[in-house]
Amino acid sequence: MKTNKKIFDAIIIGAGIGGLVTASQLAAKGAKVLVLEKYIIPGGSGGSFKRKGYTFDVGASMIFGFGEKGYTNLLTRALNDVNEKCETIPDPVQLEYHLPNNLTISVDREYEKFISKLSNRFPKEKEGIRKFYGTCKKVFNCLDSMPLLSIEDPSYLFKVFFKAPLSCIGLARWLPINAGDVARKFIKDSELLKFIDIECFCWSVMPALKTPMINAGMVFTDRHCGGINYPKGGVGKIAEKLVNGIEKLDGKIRYKANVTEIILKDEKAIGVKLSNGEEIHADIIVSNSTRWDTFGLNNNDKSLIARNSVPKSEYNWSKTYKPSPSFVSIHLGVAGELIDKNFNCHHIIVEDWEELEKEKGVIFISIPTLLDSSLAPDGKHIIHAFTPSSISEWDNLSRKEYLSKKENYYSFLIEKISKIIPKLDQNIDHKEIGTPRTHRKFLGRFKGSYGPIPNKKLLGLLPMPFNTTNIENLYCVGDSCFPGQGLNAVAFSGYACAHKIGSKLNINDFKLPD
Ligand SMILES: Cc1cc2nc3c(=O)[nH]c(=O)nc-3n(C[C@H](O)[C@H](O)[C@H](O)COP(=O)(O)OP(=O)(O)OC[C@H]3O[C@@H](n4cnc5c(N)ncnc54)[C@H](O)[C@@H]3O)c2cc1C
Repeated sequence: MKTNKKIFDAIIIGAGIGGLVTASQLAAKGAKVLVLEKYIIPGGSGGSFKRKGYTFDVGASMIFGFGEKGYTNLLTRALNDVNEKCETIPDPVQLEYHLPNNLTISVDREYEKFISKLSNRFPKEKEGIRKFYGTCKKVFNCLDSMPLLSIEDPSYLFKVFFKAPLSCIGLARWLPINAGDVARKFIKDSELLKFIDIECFCWSVMPALKTPMINAGMVFTDRHCGGINYPKGGVGKIAEKLVNGIEKLDGKIRYKANVTEIILKDEKAIGVKLSNGEEIHADIIVSNSTRWDTFGLNNNDKSLIARNSVPKSEYNWSKTYKPSPSFVSIHLGVAGELIDKNFNCHHIIVEDWEELEKEKGVIFISIPTLLDSSLAPDGKHIIHAFTPSSISEWDNLSRKEYLSKKENYYSFLIEKISKIIPKLDQNIDHKEIGTPRTHRKFLGRFKGSYGPIPNKKLLGLLPMPFNTTNIENLYCVGDSCFPGQGLNAVAFSGYACAHKIGSKLNINDFKLPD
């Protein structure tokens, strides 16, 4: 089947949050968009699925970007731009750390409360703590003072520079810097520096020395400004509402639509081919698939672009960044009485600092029913826990070995969670176990990876690629583009992508605020 007649201005491959924000922004600018999603629900790693009366989040559940003020609240803005809104529930605490040497500390929404707790634990570093987090706030203030659009668009940069020159200079200054270098300027205590490492690792999956300062500034401040807010009904609501917005604006989304090829003609992207042989053409193609899956990098045997047409710049990128490990995730339905109503929603356990970057070195635990009880049947809670795991641990196993390994990881996670939620194993009503193979299969992500991490220490965010590619009319969006992983970050990438395309199609109605 061929549809050479162009019905759509832009085709977006993938309905992750990056793809959906691009599509909804383009639709809001008046473009006709088609989103092709290979799975049966929208949202990718930011989706939700239902089992036995439970609504489980696929991955993300600690959500930034839902504030009401400033410009960094990109989820609020993206929904608002297509006349949609998510009801959200504020989380009083971002997360609670359970770290070696009995370092148990929670990060309160209230900045002063968190800073004084940390200072009490590290009294000699009181000043350094204020200086480090204060510097993060300065970075955030620069970001929050201007509309966040495409840094690739000279006219945007020109306008924004004239409007907010100090913020622009501020941001340019921090772009090549990593959070660990800033921390070391102000802090000497090695345990506190390790704490800064886990503060970064829990969203960048990198220690502070390899985590860009721009991202750290954003995360370490937004949690106290806009705060962490959980979308009522589950994280998947964000994607569902973006889809509603796209459809109201005459855009279309198709599920079970697996794109196997981006069609090129005269070195330009002109359409896509689906696994059923169907071809659809459009002037603009956007890939929300990872760069490894789009360009077949790092010996990926799948590629949407024919091997001989892959730009050299993409191979260069894949030498600079490698795929992070994936996760083993468990989703549990458990007896409600197991968890006190004042327990915090998100927890991280590290038992040995030396293991931080290793297989099973960190355990992430979320109990979103503490914020939204509608996610589980009456009297039940949800626990979602995950730990880093590499695909190399899971490939080349027989079925029996695979199932047995799954059970081993499951028991490992249950034992660790039981340290903060005792009697867990006797109170489980429902369980799901996902491995890196599950992430690879259902999210279509190379090696099931969480996203790109630097191969070596880099100059902050500078080497991260933007949305344009060296193939004309082909754009990338999502966590393998600037500024990286996380729902709010990929929403930024979506805004930037739609703005860059909008300037090409001449549909940007862009005015800086007075
Ligand atoms: C376990 C886990 C926990 C996380 N926790 C948090 C958190 O608490 N807070 C936070 O902010 N972030 C968190 N994240 C990260 C966040 O979820 C991701 O960074 C973000 O959702 C990535 O969005 P994306 O748009 O780049 O891509 P994805 O979510 O990967 O979406 C891409 C979509 O494209 C589709 N697709 C791919 N290839 C094709 C194709 N060829 N044809 C058609 N469709 C295709 C996929 O099916 C998928 O739906 C977590 C991630 C994981 C895995």
